[in-house]
Amino acid sequence: IFITFEGPEGAGKTTIIQMIAERLAEKNIDVLATREPGGIEIAEKIRTIILNPAHTAMDERTEALLYAAARSQHYFEKVQPALDAGQLVICDRFIDSSLAYQGYARGIGVDEVLSINEFAIGKKLPDVTILFDLPPEVGLARIHATDKREVNRLDVESLPFHQKVREGYLQLVDRYPERIRVVNADQHIEHVVEDVWLLLLEAMH
Ligand code: C5P
Ligand code: MG
Repeated sequence: IFITFEGPEGAGKTTIIQMIAERLAEKNIDVLATREPGGIEIAEKIRTIILNPAHTAMDERTEALLYAAARSQHYFEKVQPALDAGQLVICDRFIDSSLAYQGYARGIGVDEVLSINEFAIGKKLPDVTILFDLPPEVGLARIHATDKREVNRLDVESLPFHQKVREGYLQLVDRYPERIRVVNADQHIEHVVEDVWLLLLEAMH
């Protein structure tokens, strides 16, 4: 079973994936936690190109293609073999990030970005996607409150851009109502973890 976590930065996805993966391992569930863009060497290298703050001239189509390139390599090299081996795979971001950020927020078009991704990985979609929803102001404030994080090219994006990302994600919920479950990420992390855990238990049935 293939589960993806989506949402803006500062929503708590990465931290919560770690906590959830530990809980699953305690229950002897064979889990693989990975991330996009990245997860394997080639895709991590593509990630450094995409997110390099010096690359201010990157065209949004180049960006969309690089995300799709990183995705196909990561999917076929790591995700698919793990699924075939019966592992539960949890991925920090996947196709919906591309649809929300490049398709919707950057204005390329959701269908256009979907078709690039169909070339990259075929019509594969996650079994369940957990969308961490929260006001962009809250996510941005959380990011700025921590110094642990690497600087990336998105840091120059304004609040309206992040608002569009949120809108893009919420439109995807209408498009994929069976697959995408929304969690309120504007709560204490313990509450978010519990909400995610319940959704996961449901997904594993
Ligand atoms: O979640 P993570 O920190 O790995 O994301 C890295 C950066 O890439 C974030 O700033 C995120 O907003 C951005 N991103 C993007 N388009 C995607 C995926 C991630 O702009 N398709
Ligand atoms: Mg993260």
